[in-house]
Amino acid sequence: MADLFGFDEALERFDPVLGIEIHVELNTKTKMFCSCANNFGAPPNSQVCPVCLGLPGAMPAVNHKAVESAIRLGLALNCEVAEHCTFARKNYFYPDVSKDYQISQYDDPIDFDGYLDVELEDGAVFRIGIERAHMEEDAAKNTHVGGATGRIQGADYTLVDYNRGGTPLVEIVTRPIEGAGARTPELARAYVAAVRELVIALGISDARMDQGSIRADVNLSLRPRASDPSKQAQVPFGKRSETKNVNSLRAIDKAVRHEVRRQAALLASGGAVVQETRHWHEDTESTSPGRSKEQAEDYRYFPEPDLLPIEPSRAWVEELRLTLPEPPAERRKRLQGAWGFTDFEMRDAVNAGALDLIAATVEAGASPAGARKWWMGELARAANERGTDLAGLPATPADIAGLESLIAAGRINDKLARQVLEGVLAGEGTPEEVLTARGLEVVSDDAALLEAIDAALAAQPDIAEKIRGGKVQAAGAIVGAVMKATRGQADAGRVRELIIEKLGS
Ligand code: ZN
Ligand code: MN
Repeated sequence: MADLFGFDEALERFDPVLGIEIHVELNTKTKMFCSCANNFGAPPNSQVCPVCLGLPGAMPAVNHKAVESAIRLGLALNCEVAEHCTFARKNYFYPDVSKDYQISQYDDPIDFDGYLDVELEDGAVFRIGIERAHMEEDAAKNTHVGGATGRIQGADYTLVDYNRGGTPLVEIVTRPIEGAGARTPELARAYVAAVRELVIALGISDARMDQGSIRADVNLSLRPRASDPSKQAQVPFGKRSETKNVNSLRAIDKAVRHEVRRQAALLASGGAVVQETRHWHEDTESTSPGRSKEQAEDYRYFPEPDLLPIEPSRAWVEELRLTLPEPPAERRKRLQGAWGFTDFEMRDAVNAGALDLIAATVEAGASPAGARKWWMGELARAANERGTDLAGLPATPADIAGLESLIAAGRINDKLARQVLEGVLAGEGTPEEVLTARGLEVVSDDAALLEAIDAALAAQPDIAEKIRGGKVQAAGAIVGAVMKATRGQADAGRVRELIIEKLGS
């Protein structure tokens, strides 16, 4: 294996050109061409039928909702929507494609010629050209058993789960992305994040990278730096590698960085980049060769004879355009302005997947700062402990708004609020219910407080003497004792007032 170049050194000599393909699994109720349920996690091979298994005589029929989602995604990517497009058979053998072909689109994709503006952390905006977004069906899922890596190499046997076979996909293909230089890894990551955010806003996919409902393939090539930078675009592209199924945002950045360094070392030592697919290895943060990359003609694409062309009427397309959500970047700016968050706070919330939760909590009546405090603090900790994301916690935005209003009404303090939240997370009910059931309400009844104060003063007569002598700050020890005796449920401010009244200082 060739050595790696330093990243900066690689960029001094070479100009990276990036291309990204993203497969988005649509969250339709049923599969692309049959009425089998489309959901993740069912027992293996329980959601299959003759159509998605490719048994003789089975006839596919197009999922209308999937076409609708593909059009909405295309519009959100500023694409043209085809007036006429067809499906094609992409022929190849693999155990995860039991028909021996995948139904896809070839030379007339439903969406084409679009772009997406992607903002980097420092606010720089890159426009990514979208060549096409086409509809296709997903393959089944192979599980390679035995062997250390979970890959086919070294495995003892392979299990195939056909539930995933036939899931509706949209594959989004960028144009070559040039000119990002040292920011290429960051841009790759930001682009995938932006597409993910977009499909979430559209509501067309679960968008779980960890479950494979969004999968990115990263193409990268290097070309020599032109001595005159203004002539860089005229230097022909180098041979590219395609790193498959990079399944986290962090890994996208790392995989691009790795390929820049690997290819630079190869080219600088007089070697050549092989056009091939590569696998990303999370453990070693490196790629290894997969299969040598086929050309499109190797798949013997031909028109799918069992499906009619799709001809979305212009009226329908315009109707769907009206259903597009506010673009995520604009929405973020609007919310940040309304909430008064700093750039850092906003980025933090976005990265934690808390934006929608905070928005819903504010909508339910909480202050933006209060909503942020809970979701980014106590709840982030709880999610981390449980190994889930924030949205997977049993606490809802309404719960958090409820908690905030109990604090605002003085019925609980911050410390009690934490205990209430603990109850909510344990499934004991709404904050109000937990408060009642656990008896956590702040004690502001003076008689009860005075009783506790008397006990505390009697236990620490020297401190009582100091307070009488005018050392008001000594009251802190008594307040502490009262808080302890009431299990934190006393109103600390009121306790202090009562002590001072009582001792006349
Ligand atoms: Zn089926
Ligand atoms: Mn594909």
